[in-house]
Amino acid sequence: MSKQINVALIGNPNTGKTSVFNALTGLNQKVGNYPGITVDKKQGICKLSRGVKAHILDLPGTYSLNASSLDENVVIELLLNKNDKDYPDVAIIVSDVENLKRNLLLFTQIKDLKIPTILVINMSDLMNRKGISLDIELLEAKLHTKIALVSTRKNNGIQELKQLIENYKTISKETCLDTSSIDTAYFESLQKAFPNQDVYKLWLVITQDANFGKITRQELDISKFKTKSNQELKRLQQKEAIKRYQFINSILKEGQTIDRSKATGLRSKLDRLLIHKVWGYVIFFWILLTIFQAIYDWATVPMDLIDTTFASLAEWVKNTFPNGGMVTDLVAEGIVSGIGGIVIFIPQIAFLFLFISILEESGYMSRVVFLMDRIMRRFGLSGKSLVPLISGTACAIPAVMATRNIENWKERLITILVVPFTTCSARLPVYLIIIALVIPEGSIIGLSYQALTLMALYLLGFGMAIFSAYILDRVLKTRHKTFFVVEMPNYKLPLLKNVIITVIEKTKTFVFEAGKIILAISIILWVLASYGPGDKFNNAEAYIEPTTQTSYERNDQIAAFKLEHSYIGIIGKTIEPLIKPLGYDWKVGIGLVASFAAREVFVGTLATIYSVGSANEGENIDTIKNKMQNETYADGTKVFTLASGISLLLFYAFAMQCMSTLAIVKRETKSWKWPILQLIGMTAIAYICALIAFQFLK
Ligand code: GDP
Ligand code: MG
Repeated sequence: MSKQINVALIGNPNTGKTSVFNALTGLNQKVGNYPGITVDKKQGICKLSRGVKAHILDLPGTYSLNASSLDENVVIELLLNKNDKDYPDVAIIVSDVENLKRNLLLFTQIKDLKIPTILVINMSDLMNRKGISLDIELLEAKLHTKIALVSTRKNNGIQELKQLIENYKTISKETCLDTSSIDTAYFESLQKAFPNQDVYKLWLVITQDANFGKITRQELDISKFKTKSNQELKRLQQKEAIKRYQFINSILKEGQTIDRSKATGLRSKLDRLLIHKVWGYVIFFWILLTIFQAIYDWATVPMDLIDTTFASLAEWVKNTFPNGGMVTDLVAEGIVSGIGGIVIFIPQIAFLFLFISILEESGYMSRVVFLMDRIMRRFGLSGKSLVPLISGTACAIPAVMATRNIENWKERLITILVVPFTTCSARLPVYLIIIALVIPEGSIIGLSYQALTLMALYLLGFGMAIFSAYILDRVLKTRHKTFFVVEMPNYKLPLLKNVIITVIEKTKTFVFEAGKIILAISIILWVLASYGPGDKFNNAEAYIEPTTQTSYERNDQIAAFKLEHSYIGIIGKTIEPLIKPLGYDWKVGIGLVASFAAREVFVGTLATIYSVGSANEGENIDTIKNKMQNETYADGTKVFTLASGISLLLFYAFAMQCMSTLAIVKRETKSWKWPILQLIGMTAIAYICALIAFQFLK
């Protein structure tokens, strides 16, 4: 019978857990959620010999079992709960060879829970260069464990690690520390109160309770047993750490030698340049520009390809299957183009994450945080928020996903909430047509008014993002760690395997998780635009007199008439009283509603409403512009004036009109609360600004 061995990968941040995870599982992994919190749960399968399989769980980085963050809490919850289906048969502590001392603290704690524990010492490739040598046998004996000396970079030691996992039953369960020596009397009374429980586990439960105040385990009613104040407990925790470090020091003194003269100077030279007061920023902005270029420019090639492919696919469906049938239309226009609308984001997401994972992997990202943190922190953001904010200029979707790198939840949340204010590329076609319509052509000191307006809109978006971050920082009441540690990891050449897996994983997450919601909403919007109640919609041909026009013109008019009487048209008309104060009529209203699918749909929708055929793409922007220019209300006043134009620009600048962004925010925050807040908040801001602008200018 083949049995599955449950393995948990645990370790300090940046020791290479994920690299070991990737080395063990390859692409046999999946990412899920821990219930109720925003931490990802990465699981994978590793095939051992003779049909034995190991189920591997990659846990968030943690420094000790004295939890101070939600991420760390995940690890403790798992280790304290034998009934958890992921409870490990064997724990693998991943440490890196350069920071053994710090890493071993966590190791000894887990060891003392009497869980069979394997110690992976990763990054062994650095030992030579750093002048580190280890007496593995001695360490194994003193720590009562098995050690795998691994380099995921050189692919060394992975086979040995698999062997150890397979033979986990032979690992000693002896503890490192006599834990009751922390406070003998207290521990004895604890044991007496709960004779069937492991005393160190009890101790952890009690101190967790002190730190978190929200862990309640039915299994142990420790609330009855709180004979020490939180302060005393904290002091004992410190005592525990000191005892552990004494133990670790004594072992490392024998088992590890470091030749300091070998520590290289390259790192400090690079650091001097990369966090230089001037050059540091220059280099960072140059890198940002490259990233920006990649997602803005390079991605358009595959995006255009996807666009045309899906268009022809829709065309093909229409031509191949029963003509005019409801199912055919649904598949061709609703589903195929809905899926196309998801797939189209893949190039941008892939490019952005290619760059981000290279920056992270190489160790450069920590320097960026160091550089930018002081500035960004004033606005409640993190140094790492700058990458999402800049990439938001191409598209908010990859940008929201990029906030993953921000460890602090509050900073990450604020970044997610404000990113959609930055001017994404979907707003551009809308801006261009409205600017051409209402901003005069003249220029001032060589700069055209139109170009200046466009630039002002970009600045406005970025400014609004920063401003709202500032406000949110004051308003949001989230547990916020005040201390701040930047770890400066060593520079490393990025591991190609890690980079590729990151890109694939992010893309998959987007397609399958946000994709579901996007597809659902696009189908709803399609139905609303393609169906209508009553005769006017269903019998539109009868209402448009076949006069002298060409059949093209007549078809355009029928399409316009149908859209007017479709459900979406009805919604557009219904909201007219609401948008009248902003200077829009119901036609613009339909455009606004349709824009929730994606902002760029606005132009196409107006084209349909003004019955400008989509047959001749090139000319129709001009034709739409002319039609809009001549559009009047019943009393003869123009619809598009400077006032209503500016108002519309402001509305598009601020409103949350992108279901794909809402879907990805839902996925990243694991709750509907934040996307809904975003939808309401941003749209309200947009409405108020547009209202003020129109009322002042008209
Ligand atoms: P995690 O935070 O523990 O999941 O660590 P990661 O797997 O993300 O790795 C952190 C960094 O260490 C990355 O930059 C990796 O490329 C690097 N790294 C991982 N394994 C090795 C190794 O064996 N040798 C070296 N030199 N670097 C490694
Ligand atoms: Mg990791």
